[in-house]
This record gives sequence, structure tokens and C-alpha cells, in this order.
Amino acid sequence: MRIFENLESEVRGYIRSFPTIFEKAKGALLYDEQGEKYIDFFAGAGTLNYGHNNDKISEALIEYLKNDGVVHGLDLATTAKKNFLQKFSDTILAPRNLEYKIQFTGPTGTNAVETAIKIARMVKGRSNIVSFTNGYHGLTMGALALTGNAFYRDEAYISRSNVSFMPYDGYFGDDVNTIDYLRKFLDDPSSGLDLPAAIILETVQAEGGVNVASSQWLRDLEQLCRDYDILLIVDDIQVGNGRTGEFFSFEEAGINPDIITMSKAIGGGLPLALVLLKPELDQWKPGEHTGTFRGNNLAFVASAVALEYWDNDDLSQAVKSKSEVLRNRLEEIAEKYPDANASVRGRGLVYGLELPEKNFASEVSTKCFEKGLIIELAGALDQIVKFLPPLTIKEDVLKEGLDIIDESIGEILQ
Ligand code: PMP
Repeated sequence: MRIFENLESEVRGYIRSFPTIFEKAKGALLYDEQGEKYIDFFAGAGTLNYGHNNDKISEALIEYLKNDGVVHGLDLATTAKKNFLQKFSDTILAPRNLEYKIQFTGPTGTNAVETAIKIARMVKGRSNIVSFTNGYHGLTMGALALTGNAFYRDEAYISRSNVSFMPYDGYFGDDVNTIDYLRKFLDDPSSGLDLPAAIILETVQAEGGVNVASSQWLRDLEQLCRDYDILLIVDDIQVGNGRTGEFFSFEEAGINPDIITMSKAIGGGLPLALVLLKPELDQWKPGEHTGTFRGNNLAFVASAVALEYWDNDDLSQAVKSKSEVLRNRLEEIAEKYPDANASVRGRGLVYGLELPEKNFASEVSTKCFEKGLIIELAGALDQIVKFLPPLTIKEDVLKEGLDIIDESIGEILQ
């Protein structure tokens, strides 16, 4: 479909799934050039946890620009950076008794992942990294090597000679504990598994189809890392920042990763990525890992304001209560349409409705778009309809979006 008439520069894009031009956005709503309203259950793939054009964030940005705040300063110390570091430390790290050094990276998630694996290899003096089936860590060469789905990498000729894939929680069903499997591989010299520098994982594999690791599995994995002197890296790029109801997705499990990667919503809607490192891991030489767009000052301003949502429990409670609404309604829909063979899984405000096959799921997404709901697909076979609304979505808007899902599935099955 040609949307941008006479413009040849848009090579590929979401235009294929959502053929319109969006002009405005507020909260959990998008509006196209024709003034049609769409509910956003995609939220910039988890970037817009605080909604589009969040009033508090927008006002702070306008104020900062009006006052000639530094917009770009490379690595110079700036007021915006100082305020962000202070806020992150006071609001996020200190109350959780967490001690990490913060390192800014290039502005996208994949930059943070590259940084994390680089430092892990350097510190441990080992090259192997364990990643998991269905994991998604980005699409630049290093991060891509850790991404499971063959679709993303088969033609890129990446080197995966120093990455080993292991089965994620539940990969073989509920009866197989995949941590035992990993332990056996580490203990058995004939397994072919080199002792890794680090194990990287998402606590909920969002792109990989909303696969949720149990708290026990996460604790067992942490124990394994301690037993074998392996660094534990949690990639909290998509399901951190409150997506599961707590600021960090691993809080419920009570684990303490050595390295955490963050991006997407940490910038309050603007590009920002960072790595949290246990202090003893900060072994870079000066200038050893740099990048021009590290730490965007506007993103610091936006982020410091967004973090005010974590001054108290309100957002966390709201996510938990909307999570119930979402889960209950999805389960109801799955029951109402037995022919859909749908199953539900997720945590907080990241949920998946698994359908038996891709065509069905993509019909649902298309039908929803026609009815004014933006919703994307996930999973190796794109057969999972993925729910990722802004955390600040109003409950009635969430319900309106769920009505559209219900109607769409009903109409497709007619
Ligand atoms: N890790 C995870 C868990 C992600 O979900 C993503 C993006 N979907 C990335 C890394 C890569 O981030 P980016 O697309 O910003 O490079």
C-alpha cells in the first residue's frame, strides 16, 4: 500500500500493518490525519509506559528548552544529567537497597545489550554467553547473536561461535526443570558447553511471545550463576520500568542481577539506554566504551519527571489492578470462543493471547485496526496477540480496547 504518495524514502515500516498516517497522540490514544481515534495497545513497543505526551513530561521539556538547557553535551556533566542521576538513585536504587553504577550507552536497547556483554566478557576473561530460546536482545551484530528467532539472523551471517542457547523456563513444558538441564551441561565436560562469562535473559520474553519465567526458576538461575561464577544479566529493556507492576521485573523474584540493561520507557518517551553494573564490574579504562549520542539531555529531563511516578506506590498498584482486569477479560474471551483455541499468559501489563496460527493472529490485528485499536503480534511464529498498553491507560480505555478484541475475534470466527 502506498501511503506516502510520491515519497520514496520509507523503505519498510508498520505501514503494512497499520495503513494510515498518525498525526497526534495523547495518553493511550493516537489520532490519524483524518481524525480517526485509535487505542494504543502497542505503546511504542513498551516505550510509552507513561502515555503519549504525558502532561508532566511535556511541560518539563518545554520549560527546559525555554530556559536554554543543554540539549546535547556528549559526556559533559550537565544539570539535567545530575538531576537524573540523583532522581534515579533516590527513587529507584536507594529504597530497594540496590548498589549499581550507571553507564549510559547509545540511545537504543541494543546498544545497552552490546555494552553489557562487552563488559561481562572483559571482566570474566571468557567469551561464551548463554542466552535462551525465544530471547530477544536487539538486532545489531552482538545483540543479534543473543536473539533466538532465526527469522532475524539467518541471512546476516553473524558469528554465534561464542553464544550458547539453552531452554527457557517452560520450553519443554511444566515437567522439565531447564535449570537442571543447564547445570548438567555445565558439569559434564563432554556437553560442549564452554563456561560462560554471563547468562542473559528477560524475565518475561516479550518479543518471544510473552513467555513468563517463574520466580523460582529465576532464583534457581541466580543460584546457578553464583555456584559457577557466572555473571547474571537481566535485560529489562521491555519489561522493566514498571511493566510488571514493580519498577524492575525481577523484584518479585528477589534476585540481584550483576548487570541490568534498560532502555525504552526509561527515557520517558525519548531515546535513552543505560546499563546498571555492580560497582566492582566497572573496569573500563577511560574512553574505552564511548558513543556520540550517549545520554540525551532531553531524555534525562523527561526521565527524571517520569521517575516521579515511583515516588509512591500508586502506579504500581494501578498496574496490578489493571492487570487483573486484563487477565480476567482475556480469559473470558478465550472461554467464550472455544473455536479460537486461545490461551492467555503474562504479568502486569504485558500479556499474550496465543492463537493456533499466524494468519488468525494477523487477521485479529487487522480487524482491530479497522475498529480503532493498534495491537501487535509476537512469538517465533507471530501467532501471539500482544497486549502492551501504556501503564497509565485509563481503565475504561483498557476495557474499550478489550471490547474491540472480543468483537474482532467473534467476527472472524463467524
Ligand atoms: N532487549 C529487549 C528485551 C527488547 O525488547 C528490545 C526491543 N524490542 C531490545 C533489547 C532492543 O532494543 P532496541 O530495539 O531499542 O535496540
